[in-house]
Amino acid sequence: MSLEFEAVIGLEVHVQLATETKIFCACPAKPPQGRSISDLAPNSNLCSVCAGHPGTLPVLNERVIEFAAKAGLALGCKINSESIFARKNYFYPDLPKGYQISQYELPICEWGSLSFETQRGSSQVQVRRIHLEEDAGKSVHEGGATLVNLNRAGVPLIEIVTEPDFRYADEAAEFLRELHGIVTTLGISDGNLQEGNFRCDSNVSVRLKGESRLGTRVEVKNVNSFRFVEKAIEYEIARQIEVVKSGARVVQETRTFDSDRGVTLSMRSKEQAEDYRYFPDPDLVPARVSTNALARWRSELPELPQAKRRRYQSELGLSAYDAGVITGNRSIMMVFDSAMQLIAKQESNLAKGIANLLTGEVSRKLNEESVALEDLPITPAHFVDLARAAAAQVISSAGVKQALNNAWKTGESIDTIIEKHGLKQVSDLSSLEPVVAQVLAEYPAQVDELKSGKDKVIGFLVGQIMKRTGGKANPALVQQMIRKWVES
Ligand code: ADP
Ligand code: MG
Ligand code: ZN
Repeated sequence: MSLEFEAVIGLEVHVQLATETKIFCACPAKPPQGRSISDLAPNSNLCSVCAGHPGTLPVLNERVIEFAAKAGLALGCKINSESIFARKNYFYPDLPKGYQISQYELPICEWGSLSFETQRGSSQVQVRRIHLEEDAGKSVHEGGATLVNLNRAGVPLIEIVTEPDFRYADEAAEFLRELHGIVTTLGISDGNLQEGNFRCDSNVSVRLKGESRLGTRVEVKNVNSFRFVEKAIEYEIARQIEVVKSGARVVQETRTFDSDRGVTLSMRSKEQAEDYRYFPDPDLVPARVSTNALARWRSELPELPQAKRRRYQSELGLSAYDAGVITGNRSIMMVFDSAMQLIAKQESNLAKGIANLLTGEVSRKLNEESVALEDLPITPAHFVDLARAAAAQVISSAGVKQALNNAWKTGESIDTIIEKHGLKQVSDLSSLEPVVAQVLAEYPAQVDELKSGKDKVIGFLVGQIMKRTGGKANPALVQQMIRKWVES
């Protein structure tokens, strides 16, 4: 009899909050425009509070309460009117105080859920808690020495902890994509994956199918790409199944993911549960959320990606695929939504054309050139004008591409571009008729073929007319004209 295993996965996601200042002092948490904390000179972004000097006192940045509560509201959590900051005691060089201020027994948010789609359909996962904490500094290992950079120390984080509800690696990845879309849409985090501003610890165990007890878990730390989380979990599931099948025991430990080799590697054993000796921080009063504040924050919640995707499909007739691509990229989503503001209700048929431009040509170019859409001179109005011109058959699909490329670089209006580059299709019958008549007279054999039902030859005839009009004839119209001619 072959044994059937199932995987059990729970996630702990750290999200850096995009507040102006750090969580307990007035140091900037956001570096100046266009730069990242890692660009700053080491230890240039700190004060005696975030450097943990004895005798200094933390003062809570109220904004972090709002941001954490908004995350909780978006995930359907209960928001606690009072939550407690606690000291998590451990020693590490990048943690000068000897403890991290976090929340333990009473976090700001509890018990929510998030649903998402995978190939197997829709899944839902419970969110156990969301708590606030400060980030630690960074240890840099260089030339045999370890250096400490405290620029990040005290930057606010929320940690979102799920129940062990996932059974497949791709569920974890889809959950993270959905969650990332939510925190960036809320505007509470920039979600920058490269900077580690959205990173995930995956807890993975395996057990025999039908077993209700949880197996021993392994924690794969700090993976900051959705694809790598999926790969790391897949690897870990296969590894643990092999261990169990060989008759050995899975060891409780912390592992890292080596993305070059696609394997997880042991970092440290966790056989004895760590004891952080949590206790309430005597320097901080409980964080309070009033009913008024909560009502205001609830009213400020933007339309979240899931609702947006549904609306794009039901109201605007987009495909599930297009709706997913648009909401999956914040700047594309903003351009699309602004474009929708510019069109009238009776023009909602343009939505599809604009969506096609954004999910096709635009996504491709953004990937290729690795630029940000908001850094380009092209605007929502360009997309509306392009879709209008295409729908009215003023320009051909080749013309649309050309005009898009042009607007991408110059920011000139679509009208100007069409004019300047002669992109206007010839759609008036009177100027096309003589050309059509001439071509059909020159190719009687092909006309006969067409008459006898060899429909393929129409492409050749349209091609000849396009050639003679310098590519400017409206090909759909030309085809119609040829058919009419042949039938009469
Ligand atoms: P700790 O306090 O050690 O961090 P928690 O009980 O808070 O442990 O769980 C941390 C994360 O690990 C949660 O996301 C939880 O769902 C997940 N988890 C706990 N036990 C298991 C297990 N046996 N297998 C997989 N995931 C687990
Ligand atoms: Mg934990
Ligand atoms: Zn500081």
